Amino acid sequence: MEEMKGLMIFTGGSKMDGRVGCAFVVFYNKTELDNRRFRLNDSSTVFMAEVIAIQQAVQYVKANDLGQVNIISDSRSALMALSVVEEARNIINNIKEDIKEYKGKITLTWIRAHMLNFGNERANQLAKEATLISDEAISFVPSRNQIRNEGNKIIKNLWQNRWNDSKNARWTKNLIDKVNVDRLYGDFYINQIFTVHGVFREHQARFFKKTSLCSCGQETGSVLHVIKECEIWTSYRKNWPSGWQLMSLKDLINNAIIRISLRGLLHELLIKEIDLLSSFSETDVSRH
Ligand SMILES: [Zn+2]
Repeated sequence: MEEMKGLMIFTGGSKMDGRVGCAFVVFYNKTELDNRRFRLNDSSTVFMAEVIAIQQAVQYVKANDLGQVNIISDSRSALMALSVVEEARNIINNIKEDIKEYKGKITLTWIRAHMLNFGNERANQLAKEATLISDEAISFVPSRNQIRNEGNKIIKNLWQNRWNDSKNARWTKNLIDKVNVDRLYGDFYINQIFTVHGVFREHQARFFKKTSLCSCGQETGSVLHVIKECEIWTSYRKNWPSGWQLMSLKDLINNAIIRISLRGLLHELLIKEIDLLSSFSETDVSRH
């Protein structure tokens, strides 16, 4: 296996106590940036779970336009199916089609299971967790095409209800009160704000025992500080409509002009922080 660098998505599937789940986890070098878990129908096979995990990872890469990504799985059978020229199963052919259509580059890599690889272990752990998700009907996130279908309004309503009832996502809920697939899955960079994942130091400090002080040295590297105050990012705020200082984070994100520059800001912040993190966390991150 070549050196594990750049954007990598590890996928995994799992069957436990008759329940089936799968997951993928996004890494940049050794820093986890994001993950998704899906519970599948109990009658699904582990093979199918592995395939769905790859399918979801491919869709995620496409939706977020992530450039060059390596998708890594320990399922030999799933990868074999994807490499065969003559294939009857629709889902396999659809994945192959998706990879071919993609503007960037997706490579599929096999990794031997149980080799204590950080990403592979994390993906398999998340897949096991996914089997515990309580409602399989809504835990399997519908695809974008499905959402576009009128017929899936029901799923959307169920999802919305679950969203309304959830107590664990208060931060995200303050920013998004209507379930919206494009927004939740549509932008990798903006998602860094929604989920408080990854790039912000205030968050990283909790995981990596790292300083929470912003690189400007003035304040805690919180979401609000980075977006509204930090002098490092002044140039990104130049074109913002007047009065933005008084706008809530939610309104900032929903403003089209601001959203575009925030995307640029987050992209740059991510690269900056990741370079720092990679040198720092070689051994540490895999434990989380
Ligand atoms: Zn700062």
